[in-house]
Amino acid sequence: MTRPRPVIAIDGPAGVGKSTTARVLAQRLGYTLVDTGALYRGVALAARDRGIAWDDEAAVAEVALEAALGFAPQDDGTPRLLIDGKDRADEIRTPEMSAGASQVSAYPGVRRALLEMQRDLGREGGVVLEGRDIGTVVFPDAEVKLFLTASAEERARRRVEDLQNRGTDADYDQILAKIRSRDEADSTRAIAPLRPAEDAVILDSTSLDLESVVQHVLELVQACN
Ligand code: C5P
Repeated sequence: MTRPRPVIAIDGPAGVGKSTTARVLAQRLGYTLVDTGALYRGVALAARDRGIAWDDEAAVAEVALEAALGFAPQDDGTPRLLIDGKDRADEIRTPEMSAGASQVSAYPGVRRALLEMQRDLGREGGVVLEGRDIGTVVFPDAEVKLFLTASAEERARRRVEDLQNRGTDADYDQILAKIRSRDEADSTRAIAPLRPAEDAVILDSTSLDLESVVQHVLELVQACN
C-alpha cells in the first residue's frame, strides 16, 4: 500500500520525550498527532468512572469496547482526549492514571479494542503516532519508525526538571522508581511488549536535545519521499 504522506511511528519508554518530539514534528510537517497512550489512560479513567476495578480484566475490556474514545483537535496541534463526548485530557495526566494505563494496557481485550481505532486514525498517512507498539503492531508498515531511548536516570532527571518548572515539588528517587517499574511492566508483558521493531531507527536521546532528535526524524521523512 502506498500512502501519499507517511505514517511516522515513534515508540519508546515512559518519559523519553516521545510526546514533545511527536508534537513538534506534527506541527512542522502539518501532520495529525495521535498520542496512543492517551487512549490507554482513557480506558483506565472510563473504568474508574464506572466503578470498575483495574484488576477486573473482563470488565475493563468491555469498557474499552463500549466507551467512546476520541480526540478533539486543538489550535496548538495538541489533540484533547474525549471520553463519551467529554474533554478529559487533564484528568488522564495524573500518576494514578499512569499506573492504571500501564495495568489495563496489558489486557489483550483492551489492546484489541484500541487497535482498529489507532489504525483508522493513521490509515491515510500524514500522521505522527506515538506509543509503545506503533512500529511493531499498529503500523508495522509505517514509512518512518523511530525508537527513542534514554537512560532511566536521565528520564527521571528531565521529569523532575519539568515538574519543578511548573512549580511542583518532585522527589527524584520516587520518580526514578516509578519509571523503572513502568519500564519493567511495559517491556515484560506478554502482549505487545515494548521493544523496537526490527527496522526501527534506534535513537538514544540521553545526550541529545529536542531539536537534534526532531532534525533526525525530519531527515528520515525526507529520505522516504
Ligand atoms: O505514553 P503514556 O505514558 O501516556 O502511556 C501510558 C501507558 O499506556 C504506558 O505505560 C503503557 O503501559 C501504555 N501504552 C501501551 N501502548 C501504547 C501506548 C501506551 O501499552 N501504544
